[in-house]
Amino acid sequence: MKALRYHGARDVRVETVPDPQLSEPRDMIVKVTACAICGSDLHLYEGLIPTLQKGDVLGHEFMGEVVEVGREVRDVKPGDRVVVPFNISCGDCYFCKRQLWSLCDRSNPNAALATKQFGAAPAGLFGYSHMFGGYPGGQAEYVRVPFADVNHFKIESDLGDEQVLFIGDIFATGFMAVDVCGVQPGDLVAVWGAGPVGLFAMKSAKMLGAERVVAIDRFPERLELARAQCGAVPIDYEKSDVIEVLKEMTSGRGPDICVDAVGMEAHGHGLEFWYDRVKQAVGLQPDRPTALRQAVMACRKGGTVSVPGVYGGPIDHFPFGAAFNKGLTLKMGQTHTHRYAPALLQRIAAREIDPSFIVTHRLHLEEAPKGYDIFQHKKEACIKVVLRP
Ligand SMILES: [Zn+2]
Ligand SMILES: [Zn+2]
Repeated sequence: MKALRYHGARDVRVETVPDPQLSEPRDMIVKVTACAICGSDLHLYEGLIPTLQKGDVLGHEFMGEVVEVGREVRDVKPGDRVVVPFNISCGDCYFCKRQLWSLCDRSNPNAALATKQFGAAPAGLFGYSHMFGGYPGGQAEYVRVPFADVNHFKIESDLGDEQVLFIGDIFATGFMAVDVCGVQPGDLVAVWGAGPVGLFAMKSAKMLGAERVVAIDRFPERLELARAQCGAVPIDYEKSDVIEVLKEMTSGRGPDICVDAVGMEAHGHGLEFWYDRVKQAVGLQPDRPTALRQAVMACRKGGTVSVPGVYGGPIDHFPFGAAFNKGLTLKMGQTHTHRYAPALLQRIAAREIDPSFIVTHRLHLEEAPKGYDIFQHKKEACIKVVLRP
């Protein structure tokens, strides 16, 4: 089959690799019909993620048709159309039973590597280095999905791929970022970063009852999309004093909820490790780590700061005293995709939202290297790339 493989920093290639096989009785094989390049794939593309090896197949946002199932699979059968969550969960462990799906204890065979870094290992991920299990990803024609009964969302309507694809990652991530904050009517929600996750956080904030949403970014096309599609008030942080503007909008108090949808790099659901590498990225892109600090400083007393953005190591100059003395609540972590996706699918079916509004580029899988280049450098006003094998 054809698959996108990593060969080194900024060097990805579509090559022929062996078709995946069922290797456990709970596995299934999915024939991919659509996959996306995620902001967090750009960390891999930049060579910032350790334990990624030459030849690894990338991609963790994908969907398709089930073509084969193992003998213990009960809930899916060949022919079913499914979206697959980016994190792999077993459904049975201590964490899965508590709906903490992204913290599954059994899906990462290389847990020891991650435990060294974090004290404990999060769930395995598709196409995201060996520290996260070394699973081949979904930017390919076929993918092996472990624990098939747990790791799928069945699509039984005629909704298009682009409408449902993102419940497996970025839509769920943006939604959770706001949901965990307990939005109240009348709230003002400020979102740093108007990339895909930020835009979904804004949409979700409105769906959950926020009165006003603010988008903070510097790319005009992103701010415009936030305004037009999410009803957000745009702030260009290169032109305005963000904290002052937010104060003016809230009688001097600050936003009730502040979402850092920037993280240390492009987008995020929580994966990035070596501090030196992070510092390197920070040196190159000095705007990015400032988002979290600014969110903490801007947030009103007693408010909530939520972090779907990616962090992997220690942070310099985190204003912990400000967070403490203002009595802030901090929320963060990788998305519990399984907890949110079914309800999001219902909202899509009810026409409350059409997530395809973020797609700017549609390419064939063979053109994936070009897709990475466009997305990484935000050429052609790129916001989201969808690939079709
Ligand atoms: Zn992702
Ligand atoms: Zn589990």
